[in-house]
Amino acid sequence: MLTTTKAANAYDVALENFDTAADAMGLNNDTREMIKYPERVLTVSVPVRMDDGHIHRFEAFRVQHSSVRGPAKGGIRYHPQVTLDEVKALATWMTWKCAVVNIPFGGAKGGITCNPKIMSQGELEGMTRRYTSAILPLIGPEQDIPAPDVYTNSQTMAWIMDTYSMTKGYPIPGVVTGKPISLGGSLGRNEATGRGVFYTIQSACEHLRMSLPGAEVAVQGFGNAGSIAAQLLHAAGAKVIAVSDSTGCVYNKNGLDIPELIHMKTLCGHVEGFPESEAISPAELLALKCEILVPAALENTIRVDNASAVRARIIAEAANGPLTPEADRILEGKGVFVIPDILCNAGGVTVSYFEWVQDEQHLFWEAQDVYDRLERVMKVAFRDVLKIHLERKVPMRIAANMLGIGRVAEAVQLRGIYP
Ligand code: NAD
Repeated sequence: MLTTTKAANAYDVALENFDTAADAMGLNNDTREMIKYPERVLTVSVPVRMDDGHIHRFEAFRVQHSSVRGPAKGGIRYHPQVTLDEVKALATWMTWKCAVVNIPFGGAKGGITCNPKIMSQGELEGMTRRYTSAILPLIGPEQDIPAPDVYTNSQTMAWIMDTYSMTKGYPIPGVVTGKPISLGGSLGRNEATGRGVFYTIQSACEHLRMSLPGAEVAVQGFGNAGSIAAQLLHAAGAKVIAVSDSTGCVYNKNGLDIPELIHMKTLCGHVEGFPESEAISPAELLALKCEILVPAALENTIRVDNASAVRARIIAEAANGPLTPEADRILEGKGVFVIPDILCNAGGVTVSYFEWVQDEQHLFWEAQDVYDRLERVMKVAFRDVLKIHLERKVPMRIAANMLGIGRVAEAVQLRGIYP
C-alpha cells in the first residue's frame, strides 16, 4: 500500500522552489541562467543477463547539476519510479544542500529504473557494474562522487568502487562514499543522515521551546534515514508512536519499542505485524496528532489533498522533496514548522564529505570525532537558515534555498564565465 503518488513532477517542484527563493533574494537573471539548470545529463542503457538467462535492458541516469563549488556529489537510487526528471530534481537539491552545510561539493544524482526487491544479488551486482562502466566518463574523486540513496547501500558502493578501480589498475576509494569501513568508508556514515535529522530536530525544539523527551513522533519510511532518526529520537526520550514502510504502518499510542522494531525489520524486511502495535493506514499515519512528523520515504508524500489533515507541530524532512509547494503553503498557513530537506537530511552528504577527506588523506577518524563534527555542521547550518527565516520573514524552505543558492551564486560570480 503506497501513500505517495507521482502527481507532482519533482523537477517542476525543484524549479519552482528555486524561483521562489531567487525572487526573494532579488537574484539577477544572468546568475539564475548560470546556476539553475543541470550542467550535464547522461542517459544510459544497462543490459544485464538475468538469472533465467535472458537479457534485460534497464534505463539509467547520471545528472551533474553543478560543479561550481567543487566536485559534483550525490547518491544513486534503484527504484521502479526513477525518471530522468526525478534524478534532475534530486541533483538540483544536492547543489543547494551542499552549499547550505557549506561543504565544497556541487550537486549530482543517479538512478536506475528497476525493482531491486525482485532481483537477486547476482543481478544487482551485474547491473551495478555495468551502470558504473556506462557512467565512467563522468565519475571520479575529483569529478563526481556517488553515494547510496533509496535501495542502494554500502555493498552497492563497494561494487562501484571495484569496477572503477579495475579500469585504473589500483584502488580508488574516493570515487564513492558510503562504502564499507574495510574499503575506506567512514565510521558514522551509515547513520549520518538519521543523526543529522536528529540534530536539526533538537535545534527546532530548542527554537520552539518544546521538550524533546516525551514528544510524540510519527515516522513515514523505515529505511536508513527513517529508522536511525527514530532510534536516536527514541533514545533521547521521545515517544515514537507510529512507523511505516512500503508494506504497512504500525501504531502504539504508548510508543513503539524502536530497537526491537529495527531488529524485526532487519530479520523480516518489514514492520507490519510488530507485536504490541496496531495497523493503521498510511493516510492515518500522516494525520496523527503528534509533535514531530518525519517523512523519510519518497517525494510528494504530503500534497494538496492530504496536507490539511496534518496535525504535527514540526515536520522534519528526512526524505528529499516529501512536500509539494501547495502542501508547503497549506502547512505554512497552519503554523507547522518545516525543517526543509536540504537542511534536515544534509547529515548524509556531510559525513560523505568527511569520508572523502579521510580517503584523500589516508587518515581515518574516530566515530566520536565524526559525530562531533557533524553536530557542529548541522547546528551551524540550522542557525544560519533560522536567521534568514526570522530576519527576512520567509518560510524555512525559502530561507534554506536562499542560503544555498546565495552561496552558489557568489561562487559563480567570483569564478566568472569562460568566454
Ligand atoms: P532506504 O532504501 O534505506 O529506505 C526507504 C524506506 O522507505 C524503506 O523502509 C521503504 O520500505 C520505505 N518506503 C518506500 N515507499 C514507501 C511508502 N510509500 N510509504 C512508506 N514507506 C515507504 O532509503 P533511505 O536512504 O532511507 O532514503 C529515504 C529518503 O531519504 C529518500 O528520500 C532519500 O533521498 C533521502 N535521503 C537519504 C540519504 C541517505 O544517506 N541514505 C541522504 C539524504 C536523503
